[in-house]
Amino acid sequence: NGKIILVGFHTQILARLTGEFVHELRNPLTIIKGFLQLSNYTKEYEKYHPVILSEIERMHTILDNFLTMSLRKCTYKKMNPNELCKQLVALLSAECTVNHVAFDYDIAYTENHCNVDLDKVKQVVINLLRNAMEAFEIKNNENKIILRGSVEDRGYRFSLIDNGPGMDREVLKRLGQPLYTTKSKGTGIGISLCKKIIAEHRGTFCVSSVPRKGTTVSFYLPFVSPAV
Ligand code: ADP
Ligand code: MG
Repeated sequence: NGKIILVGFHTQILARLTGEFVHELRNPLTIIKGFLQLSNYTKEYEKYHPVILSEIERMHTILDNFLTMSLRKCTYKKMNPNELCKQLVALLSAECTVNHVAFDYDIAYTENHCNVDLDKVKQVVINLLRNAMEAFEIKNNENKIILRGSVEDRGYRFSLIDNGPGMDREVLKRLGQPLYTTKSKGTGIGISLCKKIIAEHRGTFCVSSVPRKGTTVSFYLPFVSPAV
């Protein structure tokens, strides 16, 4: 219902969250710029219009919710996980194209539905994607990201798999502690925000990683029980 609640973040963390949302705006901006530049080189530029429009839409959402986004309670809509995946594929393939990273997906079919706050789940996936992008140390055409959708017991799992450098045990252990980052310009907010959003969805969040092989970050959303 769009009601704002305070969730007990420290002012220091709130200040950093503000920075995170400003940072958040850079993604759609980069995509819009990239596609506008790309459209210079093709006659089919009209096919980029939906992407550009949807990115502008996303900036609207982020700006509307600026600062209060993480404090806004989730507002759910019943959604089929395959429909959600379709939207995530559009989002991810656009971002990967711009960043010259290979993208693939593998989506298991389901007729079930989950309760989803679409903007928030997109925010989660964008955070995970950005982490993967930032993790690729050497920029080459071996870099790859996969979106996997799998049916599990009473729910659906969305996994983002990268073949980046992975994390060692120490990083993995501290991951998700608010403000924990290994980057000089990191905020350390991304993963804890993701966890919070997925927990609000009554889902679970899971990270597994093998040094020099890659990282899989996934979240599970429970199915809503079928209507009687
Ligand atoms: P930030 O990105 O600002 O550092 P996050 O909470 O998003 O904060 O991530 C915390 C840390 O987790 C990162 O600094 C990085 O060391 C590690 N990390 C997250 N995702 C990945 C990934 N896909 N591959 C390797 N390391 C990762
Ligand atoms: Mg991050």
